[in-house]
Amino acid sequence: MSTGAVSRLVCTGCGAEPARDDPYPFRCPNAGSGDGADHVLRRVLDFDALRLPPDSAEPNPFVRYRWLLHAYHTAVEGGVSDEEFCELVHRLDERVAAVDGHGFATTPFGRSAELSNRLGFSAEGGVWVKDETGNVSGSHKARHLFGVLIWLEVAERLGFADPSARPDLAIASCGNAALAAAVVAAAGERHLRVFVPVDADPVVLTRLAELGAAVTVCPRKKGVPGDPTVHRLEEALAGGALAFTCQGNLNGLAVEGGETLAWEMAATGTPVQRLVVQVGGGALASACIHGFGEAAALGAIAAAPRIDTVQTRGAWPLKRAYDRVEARGGDAEAVAYAAHHRAEFMWPWEDEPQSVAHGILDDETYDWLAVVEGMLATGGAPVIAGERTLQQANDLAHDTTGIDVDPTGSSGLAGLVALREQGLVADDERVAVLFTGVSRSHLSEKEEHRDAELPGSRHPVAQGL
Ligand SMILES: [Zn+2]
Repeated sequence: MSTGAVSRLVCTGCGAEPARDDPYPFRCPNAGSGDGADHVLRRVLDFDALRLPPDSAEPNPFVRYRWLLHAYHTAVEGGVSDEEFCELVHRLDERVAAVDGHGFATTPFGRSAELSNRLGFSAEGGVWVKDETGNVSGSHKARHLFGVLIWLEVAERLGFADPSARPDLAIASCGNAALAAAVVAAAGERHLRVFVPVDADPVVLTRLAELGAAVTVCPRKKGVPGDPTVHRLEEALAGGALAFTCQGNLNGLAVEGGETLAWEMAATGTPVQRLVVQVGGGALASACIHGFGEAAALGAIAAAPRIDTVQTRGAWPLKRAYDRVEARGGDAEAVAYAAHHRAEFMWPWEDEPQSVAHGILDDETYDWLAVVEGMLATGGAPVIAGERTLQQANDLAHDTTGIDVDPTGSSGLAGLVALREQGLVADDERVAVLFTGVSRSHLSEKEEHRDAELPGSRHPVAQGL
């Protein structure tokens, strides 16, 4: 059912669309209906109706790629001019810079000769690193949330929301997502509530307090499955707070800001054949899949790269779901079945997971279906990286690139290391990885790593050690 709009938000589980003037179109209107479907909103563009402004050297990706944004098309429909929209984004970006030292700009993407050599690639192939460690708040997470902030501003500009009655924003996070949310919320002059686990990094907690966020520590309750911070977040949302989170099921619009990553990579003209991407909640992988898919559909690149995903041995709910879709044939019919029977494919990981890559230990992969679809469509597969590989990849990243990436941030590289060891990536392949987050505290990471040494393999399918 088309509304004639260039950009729409459509639920992949049930096909529902929020009202065009819904100030907070983050969650499917039928979410929580108990029908078993996987209710996640996805931003869908009508490529035929899309009129692209001429590309520019504009450094801010949210201005350069504004025609990707649902907020942009909604604003234009509502009478906001292209120029006014750009001004709105620049104004918000200046406030981000005032809070965090600098605003959004295209981040580096290039082949690392030393890393490529160390992994045995030929001169034709190699590893291209997208370095997000210098992005706003030190990770890619700010991209996802800045896209949401732009929407919130546009909703007020169009009269959908009342600027004098702004609801609290809320997020459950153990690190980079919380920091990003706090920076972006402060820039937007909005109050943020953050639900953190008991083992949250003290460096992060100090910064959150500086940024004015209200932090709640959430202990795990015995016998209650799932992430306790997520339970507390859901309570806050039920009380009227807005999901300012990278969890696609709670805020589908958060995925699209992350797509700027894929667009920046595509715009370099590098013919990447494979992206090995880390997965926690799934928004990053989902964003890369959609971003590259759209770049290919619009002819910016010849084809979308193969998408391989990386999870830790501690928790791999995405691979569990992927295997179940594969077992049903791995075709469109299997995906459609999965979209209507979420509980058979995705549920909270039973154990309390631990890993040196603690930023990707989400109990559920919220954007799992989009990521499974992306792997199936591109011939990719899920990889499980063991603790030794995760640490080895982080050491390798530091030694060869000099980028101060944390073990979560280099976990995509860990997946590539594992795939190379298994002989599954050819010497002349061009592979991209994302260094997603900067190292916050060397001391606390080393301690966590020592604690996280896992006893044996409880999971026989685990690979990549
Ligand atoms: Zn739905």
